[in-house]
Parts: sequence; structure tokens; C-alpha cells
Amino acid sequence: MDLFEYQARDLFAAHGVPVLDGAVAETPEQARDAAERLGAGVDGGRVVVKAQVKAGGRGKAGGVKLADSPEDAQEKAAQILGMQIKGLTVHRVMLAPAAAIEEEYYFSVLLDRSNRTFLAMASVEGGMEIEEVAATKPEALARVPIDPLTGIDAAKAREIAEQAAFPAELVDQIAHVIERLWDVFVSEDATLVEVNPLVKTADGTVVALDGKVSLDENAGFRHAEHDALADVSATDPLEQRAKEKGLNYVKLDGSVGIIGNGAGLVMSTLDVVAYAGEEFGGAKPANFLDIGGGASAEVMANGLEIILSDADVRSVFVNVFGGITACDAVANGIVSALALLESRGEEVTKPLVVRLDGNNAEEGRRILVEAAHPLVSLVDTMDDAARRAAELAAATPTPGA
Ligand code: GDP
Ligand code: MN
Repeated sequence: MDLFEYQARDLFAAHGVPVLDGAVAETPEQARDAAERLGAGVDGGRVVVKAQVKAGGRGKAGGVKLADSPEDAQEKAAQILGMQIKGLTVHRVMLAPAAAIEEEYYFSVLLDRSNRTFLAMASVEGGMEIEEVAATKPEALARVPIDPLTGIDAAKAREIAEQAAFPAELVDQIAHVIERLWDVFVSEDATLVEVNPLVKTADGTVVALDGKVSLDENAGFRHAEHDALADVSATDPLEQRAKEKGLNYVKLDGSVGIIGNGAGLVMSTLDVVAYAGEEFGGAKPANFLDIGGGASAEVMANGLEIILSDADVRSVFVNVFGGITACDAVANGIVSALALLESRGEEVTKPLVVRLDGNNAEEGRRILVEAAHPLVSLVDTMDDAARRAAELAAATPTPGA
């Protein structure tokens, strides 16, 4: 999960990284009030109004503007709010006291997957896009691998600052900031912490002016407080509902709804359906949904409900390999899930193709045959079931067409 700049700023502040005061506004009027609180217009005080979108290059796109009074901030916010930057609409701006920037530097620490370690990068040539520095002046970008067991202690932080050739009189300060940023990285379970620019202001202090943080969602169980950082407005509404029900669901852009037990089985189901779909007008999977090992009727009902309410879904493929939860339990789950949905007033109108294999498969199939639900058909093999589901998806007209 990537954070907005203002959220990164808050995390930095909480971990002792030097940042400027900040305020968030969603309307030009709120921006005026925030600018007033931040001292715009008093003794020549200026504020910076910055677009909050999860993309870099906001400065170049006109999404970062200076204002010298609350009224000016209101006007600049009106220009920036609603702006499109790299295809993203600006819904919020952050205001901060304008820094008197003397130098712009760069620092980041990230998970370096290809080298199976962490990597710190630092440069005295910050401000512009770091990819450009890396490409045109690679010697200006220090790259220091970080041992995950020892991390960045005081000595390592100095080593990074020295390798990047920061001015000698700033090394102590920079090293301290780097240590604090490592603390953000580790204690928040981030995969990226980037500061660009890290600035030296006119009075010689070092401040993190723009931050980018990506949090590792796999560590979400350790950070209940991170839930509040999710940008719910940008999340697909079906994914949001699935998340609230504790389902592992990802919306895709096809028309065959997929339910399976076990991430590996669901991944291969996506492949098999995409392959089979080539024969049927390019029918593709509509989603990933893993209902896990102990799939109860309720989990099955919740999963079916999400998938059936996806307007793009034309058919559903339920692919289950019975293990600890045997197929008869899953079959009973499907039957009661359909009854449960109907009792909830959900209209079940899309065909379901079910393939059951593994533990107690025969008994599972018998239960489904006996239930004889008009929309459910049983197919023995995964390949045939995928073909059938793709065929049904291709044959079902789009609603309203
Ligand atoms: P990005 O373009 O999306 O990375 O946004 P940044 O927050 O990094 O801002 C881009 C540029 O705007 C920075 O490199 C600075 O040159 C400038 N800038 C940002 N904040 C301030 C500020 O407080 N004062 C001044 N003078 N310039 C700023
Ligand atoms: Mn930046």
C-alpha cells in the first residue's frame, strides 16, 4: 500500500524525522484557513500548496505552488484541486510553511528483491527524478546494501552519508535523519521509504520535504492502525466489500467469476480459464477469490454474493479440491449458500459450473446432483469445467444489451 505524502509526513513526524508543519485541505476555503494557521502573509510568511496524488513529478505537472497569503493559498488550491496528474484526480492538497531551500538531496531505503537484501540510496543531487540521476550520473548516487540483521545503526548511517559525499558539516545531521528513516522502515514494515527532496534550509537544518512510503500489506496483522491509511475512495467497491468480509478477492477484467480453495489452485484456475476462453471470444477470469481451506457455507455464500454482484460476471466457476474440508462439506456449503443468498433476497441468475475433486468428491457430487439446482452444472475435470464456464460466459448476453 502506497501512502499519500501527508500520511508519510505524519509517519515521519511520529518517528522523529524532521518535517515541516502540515495541514490537509479538500476545498479552497479549507486551504485558506490552513494557510492562515501556518502563518501565510504574516511577516512575509509563505506556504506551499501541494497536490496529494500517489505519483511523482507533481512539481513539474504544476501540482506544487507557493502562496504568500491565505487568499493566495485559496486561489492556488482552487487551481490544483480537480487537476489530473498522471491520470489521477487531485482530491486533496497538503499545505506546509514554505521552506527556504538551499540544497536538495535524495535518500531512500527499499527492499531490494533481486539481491535479497535492503538497499539504501543517497545523493546530493536530489529534487529531480532519481531515475534521471541514476541514468545520467550513476556515480552521483550512492548505493549501500543493508544487512537485514544489523540494519542501519549510527556507523552505517555515517557510511551512507559519506559515500554520497554530503558536505562534512551536514554528515551528523544527515546520519541522524537516515537512522530515523530506517526506524520508519523497520517499525512500520515498509518496503520503501523515500525522501526527495531532503533539503538543507537557509539556516542549515536538514528537513524531509517530500516523502514516499510503501507499506508491506503482508505485515498488516501487526499494524491495525494502518487500516485507517487505506484510500477507500480509490479501492474497487467489490474489493472493499470482500475485504470487510475477510475474503482474499482481487477484481480482474474478465467475465468468468472464479471461486476456489487455496491460492495455488485459484491461480492455476485463472490460467486454465484464460486459455479455454481463447476459443470463446476471449472470455477471461473476472476475479481471483480464494475461500481457503475450511470453506463454510457462510464463506461460500459471502464469496458467491461478491462474485454474483459483479456486473461483468456472466458465469461462475467453482473449483474445489477437497482436503481437510472434504467435498461433501463444500457441496453442502454451495447448496446452503445458494439458499442463503435467495433468502437474503439476492437474485441468483448466473450459471455455476462446479468441479469437485479430492477428499469425498463422490459424495460431494451426489449432494449437488440431488439438490438439482437449475443453475448448477457439475463437470468432472478442471479443463472441461473451465471450457464450460468460458462457453457459458460467451453465450450469456450482457445485461441491458
Ligand atoms: P514531486 O515533484 O511530486 O516530487 O513533489 P515535491 O514535493 O518533491 O516538490 C517538487 C519541488 O517543489 C521540490 O523539489 C522543490 O523544489 C519544490 N518545493 C516543494 N516544497 C517546497 C517549499 O516548501 N519551498 C520551496 N521553495 N520549494 C518547494
Ligand atoms: Mn519529490
